[in-house]
Amino acid sequence: MTHSDLAKVALVTGGTRGIGEAIVRHLIADGFTVHATYVSSAERAEKLAQELTAAGGRVVFHRSDCASETDAQAIIDTVVEQSGRLDVLVNNAGITKDGLLMRMSIDDWNAVIQTNLTGVFLLCKAASKVMMRQRSGRIINMGSIVGLGGNAGQVNYSSAKAGLVGLTRSLAKELASRNVLVNCLAPGYVETDMTGKLNDEQKAAFTASIPLGRAASTGEIASVVAFFASDGASYLTGQVVNIDGGLAL
Ligand code: NAD
Repeated sequence: MTHSDLAKVALVTGGTRGIGEAIVRHLIADGFTVHATYVSSAERAEKLAQELTAAGGRVVFHRSDCASETDAQAIIDTVVEQSGRLDVLVNNAGITKDGLLMRMSIDDWNAVIQTNLTGVFLLCKAASKVMMRQRSGRIINMGSIVGLGGNAGQVNYSSAKAGLVGLTRSLAKELASRNVLVNCLAPGYVETDMTGKLNDEQKAAFTASIPLGRAASTGEIASVVAFFASDGASYLTGQVVNIDGGLAL
């Protein structure tokens, strides 16, 4: 049996909660062998691994900091060692350190750029070597509508997410001849720990401005990721797709 006879292999960064957890669950349900990373939630990772494995899923959680060059190369090497290939990389991990520009420290700027943009660069670089060799692969970057329209109090986060748009389009052009497709999803408002930091007034204001009148569930983001990872998305590359209930219209 060759590796191509086996299940397709995906790596999802930040896979223990929120949108990342929903992506892990969806890809497992679609038959992928899934590797997922976390930085500090070892207990949650172990619980999830037990639950998903007991239900017949093929999943491995790894402690790996996407903002570290050493960890980024090591996790790609580990996935290939353990599963023989890498078909899909989902750069989902992300952080916020919000504040108005006048009060934003250089540390809060650097931390968000390092995790949300440089981390994606590092993983794309390590993964694309494997995918180019395979002559196939999908890279799906988690952007945000804030990277397109901006948001007061998030110059660091919106700059990183805007950077992902340029990275996605450039890399799509670089890798197309090797059948490696690179796309970016731009969710609007999704109910997770990240947006749990908003107060009720902010949440109500956000919801009021969404034509569909509600936040997205994590599953609604995961199902679009799963489509971009599927055979049906074989002619899509360099795209930035809003998943925002019409918010950016
Ligand atoms: P979350 O805070 O619930 O989860 C983020 C995940 O990333 C966690 O599992 C965390 O452990 C992981 N992570 C953080 N830093 C990491 C690092 N250095 N290395 C590895 N993993 C790390 O957030 P979420 O709402 O599920 O967001 C997931 C992605 O979707 C992020 O990129 C976020 O910017 C993006 N997004 C979220 C929303 C939203 O409304 N929630 C909207 C648009 C985009």
